[in-house]
Amino acid sequence: MIKFPPQAPPAFHLLAKPTGAICNLDCKYCFFLSKEMLYPGSRFHMADELLETYIRQLLEAHGRVPEVIIAWQGGEPTLMGLDFFKRAVELAEKYKKPGQQIIHTMQTNGTKLDDAWCAFFKKHNFLIGLSVDGPRDIHDTYRVNKGGAGSFDQVMRGWEYLRQHGVDFNILCTVHAANQDQPLEVYRFFRDELGAQYIQFIPIVERATAQFLPLANVGWSERPGGERPLYVQSGSLVTERSVDGAQYGRFLCAIFDEWVRRDVGQVFVQLFDTALGAHVGQYSLCIFAPTCGNALALEHNGDLYSCDHYVEPDYLLGNIQQTHMIELVASDKQRQFGRDKQETLPRYCRECEVRFACNGGCPRNRFIHTPDGEDGLNYLCAGYKLFFNHTHRPMQMMADLLRQGRYADEIMQMEIGD
Ligand code: SF4
Ligand code: SF4
Repeated sequence: MIKFPPQAPPAFHLLAKPTGAICNLDCKYCFFLSKEMLYPGSRFHMADELLETYIRQLLEAHGRVPEVIIAWQGGEPTLMGLDFFKRAVELAEKYKKPGQQIIHTMQTNGTKLDDAWCAFFKKHNFLIGLSVDGPRDIHDTYRVNKGGAGSFDQVMRGWEYLRQHGVDFNILCTVHAANQDQPLEVYRFFRDELGAQYIQFIPIVERATAQFLPLANVGWSERPGGERPLYVQSGSLVTERSVDGAQYGRFLCAIFDEWVRRDVGQVFVQLFDTALGAHVGQYSLCIFAPTCGNALALEHNGDLYSCDHYVEPDYLLGNIQQTHMIELVASDKQRQFGRDKQETLPRYCRECEVRFACNGGCPRNRFIHTPDGEDGLNYLCAGYKLFFNHTHRPMQMMADLLRQGRYADEIMQMEIGD
């Protein structure tokens, strides 16, 4: 029995990276690739002993709630091989408490998937997050392999295996300079061609200082001459691949307008669900919650970081081989990390009409000035304002339906107005 520190949250989300940042693709906007530099000389391979420690601690740390999510991400986690995940499932069965339900998830680029992988996913009810940026021409702009060729065909082969085996999947679509102007083309591709029911639209915001911007614009992978920056959250410039703040909002609004008239209850867009949740006082996504600190990242060697987006030295909490993860999650450093999200909010946000839904967004993107010159406004603010204002009325209508015990999809028969 572990002792729960007083500040320990009952549940938290942990993304484990068994291969660290190692990936078989070389997506141009993927600054995670540069994180390889944090561990020079490493094999980037989570050892069996650590795997067991990780699963045991994660299940112990969730001993007060009925459900625990075991989430794998990378780099590319399938590079560990299927046996690693078979072992992970075995260990989860070994350590789970009576009545504890385990949800297995994995984020993958899909290129390594085959019958064996997908039969395994189906057998153990894995929820797969598949990274696709849109139809071929859009997807292949940045999601390329080590030789620079587009990965679309390989990803579609992986999707086909998932579909044949009936594996539940989410589409993880990043929004960036190459698809920000084609919202409906992207959305309809996922809905109509891929049959996606769950979609996430993740903005690409790659910060850089003036000094690093030229290098960052080239991409984050290893390159001859060793001129390669380690991505850290600093600088107030962004790469040319990054999404435009206001355009991100317009992208979401265009998709929302189509969704709210025909797809509610059929297609689940994470951001729309999150916004609807905010209208009934529930926050399911850390980015829009008042505080954060309960979404951490575990590296291949047991190092635990404050957040997947802060895998950098200043945000290392410790190593789970030396300190139980619940102590690190409950540590003053991590709790303060979570409170900082609220405590550093500029006045412009505190007085904003959509703060209840936005809460200033993720701190990692708070690097521009407010109109009155205060630091710490979110780079995506213009887009968030646009989206949360544009969707306010229909969201209120759906929230009212839910409060009356009715279904949100009834909105599709109602007059929404402009
Ligand atoms: S820093 Fe951002 S992504 Fe990380 S936990 Fe906080 S809100 Fe979530
Ligand atoms: S929309 Fe902009 S001003 Fe309003 S809370 Fe969000 S980031 Fe702050």
